[in-house]
Amino acid sequence: MLAERAEAPGKVNLFFAAGPRRADGYHEVASLYCAVSATEVVTATLTRATGADVAVDVAVVPGSLVAQQEAAGSFSLDGVPTDASNLAVRAAHAVLELFPPLVGGLHLTIDKAVPVAGGMGGGSADAAAALVAVNRLAARVSGRPALDDDALLGLAARLGADVPFALTGGAAVGTGTGAELRPVRTGTALHLVLVAGTGGLSTPAVYAELDRLREHEDVPAPELPAGLERALATGSAAELAPLLRNDLQPAALSLAPELEDVLAAGRAAGALTSIVSGSGPTTAHLAPDAAAAQEQAARFTRRGLAALAVTAPPA
Ligand code: ATP
Repeated sequence: MLAERAEAPGKVNLFFAAGPRRADGYHEVASLYCAVSATEVVTATLTRATGADVAVDVAVVPGSLVAQQEAAGSFSLDGVPTDASNLAVRAAHAVLELFPPLVGGLHLTIDKAVPVAGGMGGGSADAAAALVAVNRLAARVSGRPALDDDALLGLAARLGADVPFALTGGAAVGTGTGAELRPVRTGTALHLVLVAGTGGLSTPAVYAELDRLREHEDVPAPELPAGLERALATGSAAELAPLLRNDLQPAALSLAPELEDVLAAGRAAGALTSIVSGSGPTTAHLAPDAAAAQEQAARFTRRGLAALAVTAPPA
């Protein structure tokens, strides 16, 4: 059976500034995205099924944050939609529309390593990996040229603000709603400990809480601090640590107050800084080196939390 496989990384926002809510409901952002070595894999297989349906199943990657959450009873595969609302399915349809109709059906397998509704862009990574895998498969089956990178980026931006970054990986400054990307240089990879929450936080709910908390504030236009890109380019964790910031953090903490303890535990374990990742509830703890990251991850695990030492960007 014909099959194509592609992977796309989860991300952390090392810096995330959100401007005021716009009339269209979106927020202007200034974001420093960094891919992490926790990746989603999507395999697209041509099947003998008839009709234009895209079937999907999801498997948990052994040893991943999701596998740890599953073992602790805080994750179930039932939480991932397998219907047309799955972002990977939407991505597959977006590609298939640009090729002659498939003779046969399409089956997607998602190997999930990135927590669901965790603020690490897991669904966006699935969409990005599906765009690449389905593009290759549709090109092979039809004998037509595959869509080029720009065409895939255009489809990605329509699927969601974080999907273009999941497609490009590495590190990038995101502006607009986050989808306008400018790649940035990275030095030696950073060592982060990611700690998954026991539930999920909905991104729209976190933004709504942010707007509520800032109701009476004059919110400035979002900007990246001077020195942030230079610190990332050197790979110096010590230089970068005081510059990390996430405007969504107060809102995530307001909705999930238990995260305060996780951030405090990170600092007590020797993290240079601890922040909420994106809309949470995953938290990211910047370690001085690989050995410290492993040790910090083990401390969180002993407390019963799903924790993983990763590099950012992936080595
Ligand atoms: P982001 O950081 O991009 O805001 P997130 O990591 O917080 O996203 P996701 O895991 O991408 O959140 O999923 C958010 C919601 O989207 C889920 O609760 C689920 O209902 C839906 N969803 C759609 N497709 C997927 C997918 N492939 N994997 C996980 N969730 C998906």
